[in-house]
Amino acid sequence: TFTRLTSDFYGYEDLLEDREKQVLADLRDYLEREVRPLVDDYWTRAEFPTQVMKPLADLKLFAMPWAETRPYENSAVFRGFVALELARVDASIATFVGVQNGLAMGAISVGGDETQRREWLPKMAAADVIGAFGLTEPLSGSDSAQGLRTVATRDGDDWVLNGSKRWIGNATFSDITIIWAKSAEDGQVKGFIVPTSTPGYTATKIENKQSLRIVQNADITLDNVRVPESNRLQNANSFRDTATVLRLTRAEVAWAAVGNAIGAYEAAVKYTGERVQFGKPIASHQLVQNLLVRSLGNITASMGMVVRVSQLLDTGKQKDEHAALAKLFATERMRETVGWCREALGGNGILLDYGVARHMADAEAIYSYEGTREMNTLIVGRAITGKAAFV
Ligand code: FAD
Repeated sequence: TFTRLTSDFYGYEDLLEDREKQVLADLRDYLEREVRPLVDDYWTRAEFPTQVMKPLADLKLFAMPWAETRPYENSAVFRGFVALELARVDASIATFVGVQNGLAMGAISVGGDETQRREWLPKMAAADVIGAFGLTEPLSGSDSAQGLRTVATRDGDDWVLNGSKRWIGNATFSDITIIWAKSAEDGQVKGFIVPTSTPGYTATKIENKQSLRIVQNADITLDNVRVPESNRLQNANSFRDTATVLRLTRAEVAWAAVGNAIGAYEAAVKYTGERVQFGKPIASHQLVQNLLVRSLGNITASMGMVVRVSQLLDTGKQKDEHAALAKLFATERMRETVGWCREALGGNGILLDYGVARHMADAEAIYSYEGTREMNTLIVGRAITGKAAFV
């Protein structure tokens, strides 16, 4: 049965349908039983627990949003709560789901034609095919709308891809990677479904990450990688279509940021209730309560914002600047919150064992990926002023 999170102070979970609450309860149960006990160990070893893929697919987490695979009508608010629930336990697992479900399947759903959607989405919903999303490059991060160096050249019925990609999540084990490249024909950004067994495609794990250590990121090189025209996303004709996919996933990253903050907050509430100093639990000291209250304020404000941004998607009114503001606000508040929670634990706050340090480290990557705070600020700034400060 479903119980509201104590960190959901204003009861936003009451907005969910009964069936959605049941799925969340099942997900929470699975995460607590099977995932929470693993994550500190996998985080330390910087490895991904591939055994979670099938159970997450069985919970229909990859199938929910897409017309081809949707098990029942469900709201963006519900899918946001799924991202929150995942990140509350581990933000890397939330990122894995975000890449498979949001970025890779999202690219095929938004940019693919009917044949492509029918071919790939059911297999990906079942986790029989794992996807990755290759946009960022060694020389192009924030400026990927203009700065991509990877080139796609038409050759008869095929395209030949050359270039390199960096930071690509899930790409150490993905079966397909969506590669975004500039067409040598018209200079527009196009997307390609690239099976990772294609000759000339190489993915190498990025080592030594100190944030989101569980999710696997890769450098990719593309050396005369040949794919047929039928693997080009038929409805992705310019970077605007890529940006549509990013808008959808950006809003879910904002939800994951709230979940990551909640993970730290819950650990801080527990610890401060148990740790005794000056003869009483530190939670009875006013300044410690202040840390907890400010954290809950951040969480509650961010939750209101992400709920609304998802309601805008559900009613067809969400714009790029809506998702951008939610992402930059929720990740800034998350970064403050995990710091305050760390502080509430004193020295133990920096140890993985006490449940805050991993959320604190993971906050840094969430803060910067899917559009840095600066880039999301400039997207909102353009909407307010009508002036683009970044082209
Ligand atoms: P840069 O673009 O070099 O920016 C560095 C700094 O300069 C930032 O603070 C930025 O805001 C600032 N800056 C840049 N331009 C401006 C400007 N005009 N005005 C003001 N400030 C500016 N990419 C993918 O394609 N697929 C993935 O699956 C993926 N997963 C990722 C997972 C992780 C863990 C990480 C860390 C990254 C991932 N990325 C992925 C890449 C991510 O999206 C980029 O890191 C991000 O877009 C920022 O690009 P950059 O790191 O090259 O930073």
